[in-house]
Amino acid sequence: MRVLVVEDEKKTASFIRKALQAENFAVDVTHNGDDALALASTTPFDGIVLDIMLPGRDGLGVLKQLRARKNTTPVLLLSARGEVNERVEGLNAGADDYLPKPFALAELVARVRALTRRSGESKSTVLRVADLTLDTISHRAQRGGKEIELTAREYRLLEFLMRSAGRLCGRMMILEKVWDYHFDPGTNLVDVYVRRLREKIDADFEPKLLHTVRGSGYVMKETP
Ligand code: CA
Repeated sequence: MRVLVVEDEKKTASFIRKALQAENFAVDVTHNGDDALALASTTPFDGIVLDIMLPGRDGLGVLKQLRARKNTTPVLLLSARGEVNERVEGLNAGADDYLPKPFALAELVARVRALTRRSGESKSTVLRVADLTLDTISHRAQRGGKEIELTAREYRLLEFLMRSAGRLCGRMMILEKVWDYHFDPGTNLVDVYVRRLREKIDADFEPKLLHTVRGSGYVMKETP
């Protein structure tokens, strides 16, 4: 589970990061709203902890922009003031939960856990991009009704790419999510596997679904 923490008070951000990491969340931290938006549009997060009071674009602005972009990542809003109006505005803008400051770290962790669990459950067990389907229970892949044989690693790669459909997946992100590598092994492992996967899911079909973003990584989508 990967969580983005958006909080400009560096000490608070650091406490939250450590508390979540201790519970085995992968945590990214950013200190302003614009960076948060940029990150959230390139990385598939399972949840976002979003402080309302931020320099520049504030938390509510970030939230509204995310939802306007059809990003449905669950959001837990943090507010120093805990005002009723802000809370209502946040929930109306698409926040999933709200926590007034000061809060106990244990409560924050429990709420993030509930949030990310909900997002996991609401995901369908069958992923679909165009006529490509992947059953995440039986691990069966089909394209155009034709069965596609996958190795275990190819399955993990395809599942990750399909869950991230429409979003850029960088090589490092793929190494982390599919191989559990937290370092760059300095090989073209990802490219080799993407090539194999393409042979299976794209070579005999149109439109092509697995696209290269030169210098950055890959994106799964119907339109080039
Ligand atoms: Ca703040």
